[in-house]
Amino acid sequence: MKSQPAFFLSLLVLALVSGSCSRNSQKQNATLPALDTATFHRLVDGKEIKLYTLKNSKGTEVWLTNYGARILSVITPDSAGNRADITLGYHTFDEYLNDNMYLGCIVGRYANRIAKGKFALDGVTYNLYLNNGPNTLHGGLKGFDKHVWDSRQNGDTVFFSYLSKDGEEGYPGNLTVNVFYTLTDDNRLVLDMQAETDKKTIINLTNHAYFNLNGEGTGDILGHDLTLVADAITPVDSTLIPTGELMPVDNTPFDFRKPQTIGARINESHQQLLYGKGYDHNWVLSKAPGSFGLAARLHSPVTGRILEIWTTQPGIQFYSGNFMDGTAKGKSGGIYAFRNGLALEPHHFPDSPNQKNFPSVVLNPGEKFHETIEYVFSAGK
Ligand code: BGC
Repeated sequence: MKSQPAFFLSLLVLALVSGSCSRNSQKQNATLPALDTATFHRLVDGKEIKLYTLKNSKGTEVWLTNYGARILSVITPDSAGNRADITLGYHTFDEYLNDNMYLGCIVGRYANRIAKGKFALDGVTYNLYLNNGPNTLHGGLKGFDKHVWDSRQNGDTVFFSYLSKDGEEGYPGNLTVNVFYTLTDDNRLVLDMQAETDKKTIINLTNHAYFNLNGEGTGDILGHDLTLVADAITPVDSTLIPTGELMPVDNTPFDFRKPQTIGARINESHQQLLYGKGYDHNWVLSKAPGSFGLAARLHSPVTGRILEIWTTQPGIQFYSGNFMDGTAKGKSGGIYAFRNGLALEPHHFPDSPNQKNFPSVVLNPGEKFHETIEYVFSAGK
């Protein structure tokens, strides 16, 4: 017979093990996504909020809304076939009205930062709203993420359209933006972004989904492995505006040319990591300008899930969730704490309108803006 302390210890172990099993199986069996869809049945600015679902034969499911042309959920199987929602988001619609993390949306008219909220075209200076210290971030006060887009579904594709009027948020030109999300049967979520203007303007669009390949709300992303196909970053000043130089990644914590665990070097005292409070930088992709190629590969050793990101854009912002402070509650009830998700945002370089050596972000009347991002889902070891 066991001694009393040993007996109570085994009871405790049993209780803990069965508790964690039932929590896990609850999670796996829970109805996904954890969205209160009833709260999406409403009007905003007089326009109807819509929900769309795309599904394929691989068990992948993508939920979208026309509020910000936004990804609400991406559900994929792990290597054991267990499905989980791998993008961060909220449980109710109202929480998106106050969102300041840009969860899953299209950011625009200019993704990332513009120094001092100013840029000039043909000698005319344009002033933008300063919503990030001395700078403008992700479009300004009311960016594309806070507008209700026109939308419709056609088979495996959901189409969103938005007319950003001349002068909106200080940007010149009536800009018509069309984005298409398509889920293919070979497990690619293709995001095609197109735009035209009637007056010379600037444009930089991306999607701002946060991923956690272990499932949203399960903790931090520091154990994920990341590969970034880039030899340099655009280093920044203390307000996260590029200095204009390129910094080779050789012998720095920014070298992700081979898979690296995100948490391995994130707390090193490199000046760039101190400015970003972790990774919050633009990597200069190695592929030829304008070509479509692999930008990033993210892998979780816990679930085996793999996410590849392919794009036509010249850069990718890797943001390791350093400003996440636990004030946001996730869609399945957990708090989104420090580094509980990461964003990988293919885009043009930050502050390009003020940086003469960066690829141009100017769009002229008669030209077509056209950029593509592909998210490829799989699971291995
Ligand atoms: C930026 C971060 C910012 C985050 C949420 C990222 O794209 O690089 O600095 O905190 O978006 O706004």
